[in-house]
Amino acid sequence: MNFSSDTMQLHINSGIGYLTYNALSEIPFIRHAFSTKIGENSRSAHNMDLSFDHGEKDLITENYRLFCDAAGFDYDTLVASSQDHHTFVRVCTEKEKGIGIYREKDIESVDGLVTNEKGVTLVTYYADCTPLFFVDVKRKAIGLAHGGWRGTVAGIAAKVVETMQENYGTDPADLVCCIGPNIGKCCYEVDGPVAQQFYALSKAPFGKGSCQRELTEGLYNQQTDFHISPSDFVFPKDDGKYMIDLKEANRQILVSVGVKPEKITLSDLCTQCNSDFLWSHRATKGDRGTMSAFMCLV
Ligand SMILES: [Zn+2]
Repeated sequence: MNFSSDTMQLHINSGIGYLTYNALSEIPFIRHAFSTKIGENSRSAHNMDLSFDHGEKDLITENYRLFCDAAGFDYDTLVASSQDHHTFVRVCTEKEKGIGIYREKDIESVDGLVTNEKGVTLVTYYADCTPLFFVDVKRKAIGLAHGGWRGTVAGIAAKVVETMQENYGTDPADLVCCIGPNIGKCCYEVDGPVAQQFYALSKAPFGKGSCQRELTEGLYNQQTDFHISPSDFVFPKDDGKYMIDLKEANRQILVSVGVKPEKITLSDLCTQCNSDFLWSHRATKGDRGTMSAFMCLV
């Protein structure tokens, strides 16, 4: 295994590997982690698989317990998303503890989670799609979201910011955000119709422009003049396909709603290039486990 990153650290505890962001480790009132495939449960076909959608329930529960013990989370406090590539963001409290982990999912579509309560650990899951981490360092609120290509172009990143503004009074300027690990621009190839949806982001959809009406008009307390530039994240190839940089697209959406560029960190890890220790849907052609992002207030 060849781990190298300027923005993340790899930890191995009790044989289980997880990543943390340098930028988030500096914040004293949160704990966070992104799981890897490092760690073996001898009954598991896919190392450290954390998806109840694919795996056997008892086995995945065991993997969650093993991961929580290794990375310092309380299993009893977990609450999971129910990801389906939309932009619904759930506000989580004590009452939601266990949902999607040891209690049944109660709603179908949850691609983002936020909380401002201690004792609630947010969990979202990935195998190439983009994890998004949000920390309001002033109001001590946190968020996690899942950005596949559909969620990214639909503005899940902006929707989390909006939800934190509405519920916690978050000023986007106080947010520290981290993006990734996901499939990088080195590996994420799409066809024309998908690329067109990324080009459409140039119509300033999440700032002062049209899509703000679909979110909540006038809500943003810091208007920005930032214009999203698809040429920074859509790269046409000679064969008619396109390479997409999902991290950069999400970064620009965050800046367009007032998050400070200097407070956004992009992971430099590509899931497909690092498929020896990260699960990648494309690298495995779907025969894979799933990784989870975790974050809680402490
Ligand atoms: Zn790659």
